[in-house]
Amino acid sequence: MSKCICKENILKVTPYQPGRPIADVKKDYGLDNVVKLASNENPLGCSPRVIDKIKNSLDELAIYPDGACLALKDEISKKFNISKDMIAISSGSDEIIDLISKVFIDKDDEVIMASVTFVRYNDTANLFGGKPVIVPLEEWRYNLDGIYNSITENTKVIWLCNPNNPTGTIFSEEEVINFLKKVPEDILVVYDEAYAEYAESKKYPKNSHKLVEKYNNLMVLKTFSKAYGLAAFRIGYSFAHPNIISYINRARGPFNVNSLAQIAAIEALNDDDFLKKVYENNIEGKYYLYEEFDKLGIEYTKSEANHIFFKLDRNAQEVFIELQKKGVIIRPILENHLRVSIGTMDENKFFIEKLKEVLKD
Ligand SMILES: *Cc1c(COP(=O)(O)O)cnc(C)c1O
Repeated sequence: MSKCICKENILKVTPYQPGRPIADVKKDYGLDNVVKLASNENPLGCSPRVIDKIKNSLDELAIYPDGACLALKDEISKKFNISKDMIAISSGSDEIIDLISKVFIDKDDEVIMASVTFVRYNDTANLFGGKPVIVPLEEWRYNLDGIYNSITENTKVIWLCNPNNPTGTIFSEEEVINFLKKVPEDILVVYDEAYAEYAESKKYPKNSHKLVEKYNNLMVLKTFSKAYGLAAFRIGYSFAHPNIISYINRARGPFNVNSLAQIAAIEALNDDDFLKKVYENNIEGKYYLYEEFDKLGIEYTKSEANHIFFKLDRNAQEVFIELQKKGVIIRPILENHLRVSIGTMDENKFFIEKLKEVLKD
């Protein structure tokens, strides 16, 4: 077939490039030991309580999931002290990002986002015929004034990512509130905090989900894929005004979140000890990597997330390939910048050892 028979917009989207699977890299290079620090996954796995619970739930596979996710919404409502009609559950944040674009973005609508941020904001805007308006980061941080100044009468959606993937930088509670106060009410502001649980700075907004009670045009996205270690299950949750939640409910599939994911999420929300371990492991790994980068004279950006963005004098794609040959998968981002996820201490040390070898070659 030589002629394109799909919608024109589809061709503007590059298929998402996931981090390479470990098995694939082992096979390609004949390696026994491969460490993946490419997808910001949880190096500690998930709560052991989740695994027990799931093992005891396998007799429910013939039954459709609860399409409304009632039990999980109850838990979230209690934990976050927020009304149930202000909660949406999705098959990962990925699905809600897609649904938001589907529900809000029409042909030629402008969609504002940062230059170096999560790629799905751009891809889903293109998918629905929107026009991405790109505002450069400043010193790898969001420029909220620049974003505000880019608003026109055609602006429909604004994407904010805090902490930002891949740079790990944040903006403060004060900054986000000042921004929300100014943005016209008919523009949806999406605030993606996939990495909130890792933030260390006192300036980081601790209760951003409560802002949806005040700002009717705000949607806050959270996920079970990162700190809770449930990426395989595909489950995320978000908060917004009941009207916004009702629009999303019209557009989603009737059973968009599987039963086991719902059961796992409820258990995960209640294991604070596990979350604490995850946070502490991340802090230990972060400061270890800072120290090693300092010793090697590598420039990096201080991170409030579970990954570090760093710069080399070498081509990032080349370094990425050389590291892979030695059993370390990370992610090239820009010409000279890469992102490494923070792993267990053993994984972090293995990464540094192999990075030193590559830089010597
Ligand atoms: C990982 C990530 C997501 C996707 O999370 P899922 O819930 O696994 O779909 C969303 N936003 C950002 C910024 C992420 O880094």
